[in-house]
Amino acid sequence: MEDVMAAEGRSLIKLIPQNKRQQPKKINLDHPENTNIQVNGDEGSDPGISFKDSNSDSIEEIKPISDDSIPITREAEHINEEDARNSSAPNGVDSVAEAKNSSKIMHSSTNILGTSEGGEQLSGIHLEDLIGMIRNAEKNIHLLNHARIRALDDLEKILHEKEVLQGEINILETKLAETDARLRVAAQEKIHVELLEDQLEKLRNELSSRNSSEELVYNVNNSLPFSQSNDVNSYSEEFDVWKTENISLKNELQALKTQLFNLKKTDERVQILEEERISLESSLKELEFKFSASQEDVSNISSLKAECKNLYEKVEHLQQLLENATKQADQAILALQQNQELRKKVDQLEKSLEEANVYKLSSEKMQQYNELMQQKIQILDERLQRSDEEIESYVQLYQNSMKEFQDTLTNLKEESKKRLRDDTVNEMPSEFWSRLLLMIDGWFLEKKVSAEDAMLLRDMIWKRDGSIHNAYMSSKEKTERETIATFLRLTSSTSSPRLHVIHIAAEMAPVAKVGGLGDVVTGLSKALQKKGHLVEIVLPKYDCARYQLVQDLKALNVPVESYFDGRLYKNKIWTGTVEGLPVYFIEPQHPGNFFWRGQFYGENDDFKRFSFFSRAALELLLQVGKKPDIIHCHDWQTAFVAPLYWDLYVAKGLNSARICFTCHNFEYQGTAPATELASCGLDVYHLNRPDRMQDNSAQDRINPIKGAIVFSNIVTTVSPTYAQEVRSAEGGQGLHATLHSHSKKFVGILNGIDTEAWNPATDNFLKVQYNAYDIEGKAENKEDLRRCLRLSSRDVRRPLVGCITRLVPQKGVHLIRHAIYRTLELGGQFVLLGSSPVPHIQKEFEDIANHFQSHEHVRLILKYDESLSHLIYAATDMLTIPSIFEPCGLTQMIAMRYGSIPIARKTGGLNDSVFDVDDDAIPIQYRNGFTFLTADEQGFNNALERAFYLYKNNIDGWKQLVQKVMGVDFSWESSAALYEELYAKSVARARATKRA
Ligand code: ADP
Repeated sequence: MEDVMAAEGRSLIKLIPQNKRQQPKKINLDHPENTNIQVNGDEGSDPGISFKDSNSDSIEEIKPISDDSIPITREAEHINEEDARNSSAPNGVDSVAEAKNSSKIMHSSTNILGTSEGGEQLSGIHLEDLIGMIRNAEKNIHLLNHARIRALDDLEKILHEKEVLQGEINILETKLAETDARLRVAAQEKIHVELLEDQLEKLRNELSSRNSSEELVYNVNNSLPFSQSNDVNSYSEEFDVWKTENISLKNELQALKTQLFNLKKTDERVQILEEERISLESSLKELEFKFSASQEDVSNISSLKAECKNLYEKVEHLQQLLENATKQADQAILALQQNQELRKKVDQLEKSLEEANVYKLSSEKMQQYNELMQQKIQILDERLQRSDEEIESYVQLYQNSMKEFQDTLTNLKEESKKRLRDDTVNEMPSEFWSRLLLMIDGWFLEKKVSAEDAMLLRDMIWKRDGSIHNAYMSSKEKTERETIATFLRLTSSTSSPRLHVIHIAAEMAPVAKVGGLGDVVTGLSKALQKKGHLVEIVLPKYDCARYQLVQDLKALNVPVESYFDGRLYKNKIWTGTVEGLPVYFIEPQHPGNFFWRGQFYGENDDFKRFSFFSRAALELLLQVGKKPDIIHCHDWQTAFVAPLYWDLYVAKGLNSARICFTCHNFEYQGTAPATELASCGLDVYHLNRPDRMQDNSAQDRINPIKGAIVFSNIVTTVSPTYAQEVRSAEGGQGLHATLHSHSKKFVGILNGIDTEAWNPATDNFLKVQYNAYDIEGKAENKEDLRRCLRLSSRDVRRPLVGCITRLVPQKGVHLIRHAIYRTLELGGQFVLLGSSPVPHIQKEFEDIANHFQSHEHVRLILKYDESLSHLIYAATDMLTIPSIFEPCGLTQMIAMRYGSIPIARKTGGLNDSVFDVDDDAIPIQYRNGFTFLTADEQGFNNALERAFYLYKNNIDGWKQLVQKVMGVDFSWESSAALYEELYAKSVARARATKRA
């Protein structure tokens, strides 16, 4: 029996799966006495319970992870929400839409560019549009980049989260597998219990049927069944525990499924984000591409614009030449007709003479008549001769103009040919240039060209010089020797186009400035310096100059001696830089303290002061050993330089230069008694002649301006219209005849302004800087000026009119005075900044200033104030320039740069720079202000009222006008190029003459 039971027990053991975790639960049937102990033993030490604990531990271990995973998921959701918000945010949509729009606009503007003929439509507006579009595109790229970075961050987080979740899933899956296994074991154990119960039943039946002894029965009924029933109880308990465990695992499984589902969702989100990222990247690329395309467009436009401008200028010049030529031809024809009429009259008179001759002898009366007739004939003959001469001069002039016209035309043709050549040159592949380089190296190694020539040629190749390209092309059929000769001709003609220009002047902004002359000297010099020329300036060392604006001001140890009044005087020489330009200041050690007067001009001995300075300046150049190409003098104060140079200094060795003289205002001629000229060493007898320096209206006076016209190689004035005006008797201030006889070298070039010094975008004098694209700051400056000057600020839209000027008759003082009252009547405010060297004018304006001193709409500031002038340009809506005559005028240009609309009289340079908004004869893109012709109150009123009307009734139209005028190019760039051309031509002519 024991054996059977033992066998049964063994078979039972076999039924229990050999699961590691089940081992402790093994029922030891071999040692039934221990069963109790085992079943009722310390459960805490039961590995089975310990397994459960560890199991439940592991569940708890998961919890923190899964708890953590909730915030992570939430975070991810939050990020996704943010992304979604970003991608659908109005900004984002706007940006993309804007980008699309701008790309459309860019496209359309490119079309316009493509179809525009002669670049006429390449207006500043398109350029502005393009720049605006580029800005938008840049903004969009910036936004997209941001979105992209955020999307990438999100993606990274999500991937990380996915990884964490994947880890959890793996753990949970392992646990699931384990739970499954345990469930399976539990099921098997249940079956085993059932089997045991069956066996027990069978045993009971067997025992009862065999009628065994009481002890056995007792044993069977009490001992065995007791142990068995204990086992059953333990199994069912364990089963219950597993059931609970199973339920908890099922719950866990459910939770995992939910997580899995969430994970799938996250996956989908990741995918959507990925797609979004890809689309963002592609739109970014598209934008980048468009951006670079638009940049190319912009550069093309600016080069086209420059070309176009050049061509316009040339065409205008040609038109002017043609007009002149036509006028002269008309005059010639008129003169010819007059001549013919005179001839007819002469013929008639000759006939009458013949007839008279018949009667000559017969009567004394007839004899007298005859004499009279002869006198008349003589007069007519003289007139005929004069008119012949006039015709000849007209024909000569006509021929000259035609020649000039032809020259310009040839130049234009050559230029266009050159441009064509340049295009070809630029298209040559790198191989071409490399081959040329190697060829030069070969020649050098074979000692066919010198090291210097080889270097020059290499330099030309490196710069892709068109001439070397042409030389190579033209030598294709030639022998090597001929080719080398052609190439060497290039090196021998290589001369530096850089010029050495020295200005000798009485003013230079901002150190010593009274008016426009100072601005011109600095502006022109800076522009020429930028073009690569060496530019220096010589100024008097005034006591009242603003030396705080001079960098590195220092006196040289050695004085320069110069002649005056029969003896030599020492001059202390100071050097320093102004606005990056090298400047020499001359301080005469003369008892007259010439420049120690507290003012620049207006002294009784101005003639002496400036003739002394002119001579000292040339002496300085001579003694320092300068070899300038051009000496440029300005106005009567330094006009002495021209005769001094040719009459004295060329012989002394200062002979490299051509003299250029610019007259900034023919009203100021600096005439003086002829004898005064001798002080600076000039020969009065030799120069006080009608064809030299003698004043045209007083024989005993010397005219420095006339002297400069006669003795200079180039004579310029400051605008084409003014150049035309001074050629006439009315405008020439007595010098029209002189200008006429020197007309070949006389030209009008419109001044520019120094766009660095006058720039509202960087102007430190202003409260708020602004530019044409953002003119909000202008209103703030208006507010600031009103506060500073204690003017009413109640009405923002009340137009503020300004005037910045020297108060001299030329500037139309009566119209300036009228402008104050008319502005008030029209409901505007008026600010005047100016001062007068004329006492009665100064007094008159002081009275007006006092009258309005506490008025809420008018303020007069009667002094020179550089910083206030900047503020007024920026604050005003309009600026009045009602000049009677105006050589060039800078205030209208500066005003426009600051968005203040000019109201100007059509004269001189104003006529060349201000074009009426309502003048249909002027192309609309050039219209930039309000003009009037007649210098009276009615004329002025008309212009002012039109300006007020537009300002008050068309806010947008006014704003557009302000932005347009701010974009007009008044820089020195193009005017300096004209000076450069004049200089270069003059220098080339001089060299050619020398060679001849
Ligand atoms: P002009 O040379 O005949 O005086 P322009 O118009 O050519 O006239 O040049 C005038 C220059 O002088 C401008 O730069 C203008 O701003 C400046 N200016 C004139 N008067 C004053 C003043 N009172 N205070 C400051 N700047 C002035």
